[in-house]
Parts: sequence; structure tokens; C-alpha cells
Amino acid sequence: MNIVEIFAQFPTQRDCITHLERARWPNGTSRCPYCQSTHTTRLQHRHHCYACKTSFSVTVGTIFHRTHLPLQKWFFAVSLILNAKKGVVAMQLSRDLRVNKNTAWRIAMQIRKAMAQKEHRDLLTGVVEMDETYVGGKLHGNPSQCPPGTAQKSRTTSTKPPIIGAVSRGVSVTVQEVMP
Ligand SMILES: [Zn+2]
Repeated sequence: MNIVEIFAQFPTQRDCITHLERARWPNGTSRCPYCQSTHTTRLQHRHHCYACKTSFSVTVGTIFHRTHLPLQKWFFAVSLILNAKKGVVAMQLSRDLRVNKNTAWRIAMQIRKAMAQKEHRDLLTGVVEMDETYVGGKLHGNPSQCPPGTAQKSRTTSTKPPIIGAVSRGVSVTVQEVMP
């Protein structure tokens, strides 16, 4: 998924958030990141936990939390890094995202670190799952007809290996640091 496709697929921050919510809570019920309760409700752009009476957004506890960078750019960085065969040079990320080298390097390191933890990895691969569904164009089934969470099954028939498979096969997600 290139930058144009990411921006077309997720034109607004809201689209990105909706996608993250689907990836993080596939059954549609948000889970409180503070007390793990699922006794929650949606409050416009946030969620409220009845158990501990806090409100939270889908990004709490993820690398996307409190970022000043639009989620679109994060999505692109995730896609770029996870799909890279030989690692992504921070300089390339910097050019593509139009952020400075330090920001690019920090983003790349955060994504790389997150990929080492299962919960975060699942979320990140969930982010780029959209990739395969919308851009691959090689699926035999129609993923849009699958309820959330089952799309992955149909993706195994894709001629393009799903990213989650690529990751579990140990494709390198290393990031090379570029000295200024
Ligand atoms: Zn709670």
C-alpha cells in the first residue's frame, strides 16, 4: 500500500481511529485499557468504562498514543516497515512522510519495538491487513462480505502472502539508522 493509497483509504484521522478500533477490538466491544473491563460504552470519539469510570481512546497503550503525527502517517510507516524485505532506511521514511530524520527514526524504532510484543504486533498487523484486502486485489473471496475477524481466513487463498504470515516466518523488520 503506497502513501497515496493509504491516504485514499484513510482520508481522515477519524477513519484511522475507526480502523484501529476494528483491529484492536474485533468483536466490537471496547476493552478498558486500565482495568480490562469490557463493561464499556462509546462516547462519540472516545469510550467510557463503567467499571473504573474513566474514558479512553483506542490509542491508549499503543505506539499511536499522544502522537502529534497524523495516524495516516503512522499507518504508512507501519505498512512500509512491515512490508520491507531488507529493512527501511530512516532517511526513506523521512522523505516519504515528510518528517525530519529524528522523527522518522523514532517512529521506525517504536514500530520495531512494538513488533516484538505480541499484543502490539497483532494491532500493527491489523493495521496493514487493510493492505491486502483493498490493494492486493488477488483475493478469491470477497473480504467485504466477511464479518470482522474472519477476513484473515479468506486471505490465505491470496496469491500474495498475508503480512501476518510473512512476519511469523521471520521476515526482518529491522530499521537501519541513518546518521545525519
Ligand atoms: Zn476501566
